[in-house]
Amino acid sequence: MAEETEEAVKTFADLGICEQLVEACERLGWKNPTKIQVEAIPHALEGKDLIALAQTGSGKTAAFALPTLQALLQASVTSVPVFYACVLSPTRELAIQIAEQFEALGSDIGLRCAVLVGGVDMGLQTIALAKRPHIVVGTPGRLLDHLSNTKGFSLRTLKYLILDEADRLLNEEFEKSLDEILTVISRDRKTYLFSATMTKKVRKLQRACLRNPVKIEVASKYSVVETLRQQLLFCPAKYKECYLVHALTLKSGASTMVFTRTCDATHFLALVLRNLGLRAIPINGHMSQSKRLGALNKFKAGECNILICTDVASRGLDIPSVDMVVNYDIPTNSKDYIHRVGRTARAGRSGLAISLVNQNEIGWFKQIENLIGIRMSDIRPHQEEIMLLLERVTEAKRISQKQIKEPGGKKRKGRGDEDEEEIDRYISKKDGRFKKKNKR
Ligand code: AMP
Repeated sequence: MAEETEEAVKTFADLGICEQLVEACERLGWKNPTKIQVEAIPHALEGKDLIALAQTGSGKTAAFALPTLQALLQASVTSVPVFYACVLSPTRELAIQIAEQFEALGSDIGLRCAVLVGGVDMGLQTIALAKRPHIVVGTPGRLLDHLSNTKGFSLRTLKYLILDEADRLLNEEFEKSLDEILTVISRDRKTYLFSATMTKKVRKLQRACLRNPVKIEVASKYSVVETLRQQLLFCPAKYKECYLVHALTLKSGASTMVFTRTCDATHFLALVLRNLGLRAIPINGHMSQSKRLGALNKFKAGECNILICTDVASRGLDIPSVDMVVNYDIPTNSKDYIHRVGRTARAGRSGLAISLVNQNEIGWFKQIENLIGIRMSDIRPHQEEIMLLLERVTEAKRISQKQIKEPGGKKRKGRGDEDEEEIDRYISKKDGRFKKKNKR
């Protein structure tokens, strides 16, 4: 059925998208709607609620943004809609990215968007709300903060509520704030749930606020895109950094995201790689919002081609040019694997995911293979070749360990905001010395 629809429909206009928005899509270089857009947009334009299961990179943001903007345009004919739609996201970066996509699509229609996320000044957000935006995109906690404290801001006029990465928003982490938000918004609204993976908890929410939703699934529940090549690299735990460097040389210079389990590890690995002359930068939840965005922008701009991250970056971030994802640590929750590898092979491009698996991680890795129903091919490098890296890597680790200690030798608590500056400072100081040493 999905295939037939896709065969028959070729353009955004065919889906019922109005001329102004078709032009906006063309301006962004979108020639044809993606599968999820083909499936979701006609139902949305009919005024249905949606539960959509679509992979990251499938074009799901536009699948909910286009019908919302079209309804906004129609409503603008008779009134001036404010606080018309609200999009909730579990992470700050994703919220910013969603707002960027709304703004890109709405740039010719005078769209006003406000982003309400934690970690940044509330005052500036209050000013943005005073401008009476059409669309509010935010994380649940900060949105609630504004609903309680910002004069004149309410969601009683809301016509569209969209939950992106809905499965995560339905976790306990957000349960309380989400329930509070649901009690203060208009029930006379459309609700869209979008996610790459779904939990049974959706049923709970479905009862709470969706009305006869249309369920759309363009991919099997836990699958990854066909253009993604997935491989594993067995490695002994004690040589993991050497294997990481080897994996990075397989696509030398490529834009790569390396996932680790802890914030400390992002910092340490970024130092090690930079001490080896590679352009790596960390991003993690301990860093301030401005530092996180700064790191992301450096990566997007190509200034650093290796982003070392925790799962803070595994969901929803759209960084179109990622060529490779490396799982330095295997995620203990198999669904995180899908989110991580979803950072590459986006929008029809090809991509590579390499998982470094040590003796302690085999069980978790098998669970991932079972979840996605694939046995991954095993890269079998020459052990000797990798061991040639050992001396340089050990030296880089030694220098890095020294760098993350204070001058007095005490390890500082909470690696965070200072990470990036600290890395820059240390590397520029030591780079020369290290390079000289390696030349000898
Ligand atoms: P998303 O799944 O929403 O994160 O989107 C992934 C990427 O696909 C984004 O960079 C979008 O700009 C892009 N995109 C969305 N719709 C289309 C389309 N119809 N054709 C080409 N690219 C698209």
